[in-house]
Amino acid sequence: MYINGQWITTNEKMDVINPATLEKIADVSIGGRQETKHAIASAKSAFSSWGTAPGTKRSHYLANTAQQLRRNRNELAETITTEMGKPLSDAKREVESAIDYVEWYAEEAKRIYGEVIPASHENKHLMVIQQPIGVAAAITPWNFPVSMITRKIAPALAAGCTVVLKPAPSTPLSAIKVFECFHAAELPKGVVNLVIGPAKEIGPELTGNPDVRKITFTGSTAVGKKLMRDAADTVKKVSMELGGHAPFIVFEDADLDEAVKGILATKFKAAGQTCISTNRIFAEKNIAEKLGKKLAEQAAQLKVGNGLEDVDVGPLINESAVAKADSHVKDAVSQNGEVLCGGKPYSKLNGYFYEPTVITGAHKEMKIANEETFGPVAPIFTFEEEEEIAAMVNHEQYGLAAYCFTKDLSRGYRMMNQLEYGIVGINDPAPIVAQAPFGGIKESGMGKEGGTSGLKEYLEEKYVSIKTG
Ligand code: ADP
Repeated sequence: MYINGQWITTNEKMDVINPATLEKIADVSIGGRQETKHAIASAKSAFSSWGTAPGTKRSHYLANTAQQLRRNRNELAETITTEMGKPLSDAKREVESAIDYVEWYAEEAKRIYGEVIPASHENKHLMVIQQPIGVAAAITPWNFPVSMITRKIAPALAAGCTVVLKPAPSTPLSAIKVFECFHAAELPKGVVNLVIGPAKEIGPELTGNPDVRKITFTGSTAVGKKLMRDAADTVKKVSMELGGHAPFIVFEDADLDEAVKGILATKFKAAGQTCISTNRIFAEKNIAEKLGKKLAEQAAQLKVGNGLEDVDVGPLINESAVAKADSHVKDAVSQNGEVLCGGKPYSKLNGYFYEPTVITGAHKEMKIANEETFGPVAPIFTFEEEEEIAAMVNHEQYGLAAYCFTKDLSRGYRMMNQLEYGIVGINDPAPIVAQAPFGGIKESGMGKEGGTSGLKEYLEEKYVSIKTG
C-alpha cells in the first residue's frame, strides 16, 4: 500500500493469481479500516496545499506522471496481462489510453475557468468560481486495472482533489505499478494514496468517513447501488460507472465486413469482459443468416490462450465468470438457440478459458437477453424493420453503450436520438477517447469520466455576490 508518500507493508497477505495458468504470481500486503483511515487523513492534510496550488503546478505533476507511465509502459502492460489475462497487445493499448487521460487532464488542469454573471443591480458583482471538492475515494475494477485508475485520478488531481484508491482484489499489482509512477513523479505526500484489502473493511470507511467528499466507482450495478446508499448518510457526491448490456445493431444496408470486424472487436476483446462489450447483436432479417455465418467463421479462428503469447482471446477472470458464460449458453440452447461456434469452456488449457461462441435464434426470454454476460458469447437476435428496433434494444435497466451499423446517415441520426444509451457508436465500434464523456444512463450509472465533464465531477461551483459602494 502507499500512504502519505510511504510504501506500507503488513503481515497479512493476499495471493494474486494468473487466470491463464492458475499460478500464484505474488502476494501483496493488505490492510483494512485502520489503513484506510490513515490514508484519508493523509489525503485530507495534503488537500490544503494541493487544492490551492496553481493549476499550472498540478499540470506539471501530471505531465511528470505521464512521462513515468510511458517509461514503464511495457512493464505495466505485462503486469496487466499476467494478473487479469487480456492479450498483451490489448494491455499495451490500455496503457496508452491510461496515459492519454493523464496527458489530457495535465493540460486541462490549467483551464478551470469561473464565470461572471451580469448583475441586476449597479453595485453588485456576481461570479461563480470552481473549487475542488476535497478528498476523493476511487474504487476500481479488474478489467482495466490501469486505465480505470488514471481515468479517475487524473481529473481528480487536475481539479485539485486528493485521492484514496481501492483497486480490485484481483489486480493489485497493476495499481502498485501505477503508484510507483506517481511516486517517481514526486507527487507531494498524501496527494495519492493506495489501500489494498477486503472491500467489506475498506468500503464502509470510504463511504462513511465525513472527510471523504466524493466517491467515484466503476463496477457492478449491485455494488454501485450499495455505495450510493452508504454515501447518502454524509451526502457525498458520487460518480458511478456500472454495468452495461450493449446492443450492436446491424441494418441490411451496413457494410457487413465492417460490422463483423466491429462485433469481433467489441465482443471478444478482453474476452467480452468490458462494460461496453457487445452483449446482444440485432441483425435485420435479410442479412441475419449471412452475418451469423461470417461472424462464426471468424470467431472460430480466434486464437485462445495465455495473453503473453500471440493470442486474440485470453482467459476470463475466474471460475465463476466461466460458469456465468456457460450458464447463458446452456440457457440459450435449452430455448432453441443454435450454437454456430464454441459453446463450452475451453479445455485445452488449465486456466479460466471459454470458447468464443456465436449463437443464433436468440430471443427475449433468454437469460442472455436480460443479463450482462461478461464473457465471449455473441447471441444474434433478428428484427424486421427500423421502426421496431429502438423499442427492442432499449433496456429498462441498462443504458451504457450501443453500436449501430448502417450506410444511411439519416437512419444513423434517427438511431442516435432514439437509443437510450450514454454512448452511441454509429459505424464506430471504438468510440472511447480521453477527451469525450464516458458514462451510462439508467442503472448503468451517473456522472461522466473523460473530457471536461469528467473534470466537473471533482469540482464544486461556488456562487459569490459582491456588493460595492
Ligand atoms: P466485479 O464483480 O466485476 O468484481 P464489483 O462491483 O464486485 O465487480 O467490484 C468492483 C470494485 O468494487 C472492486 O474493487 C471491489 O473490491 C469493490 N467492491 C465490491 N464490493 C464493495 C463494497 N461493498 N464496498 C466497497 N467496494 C466494493
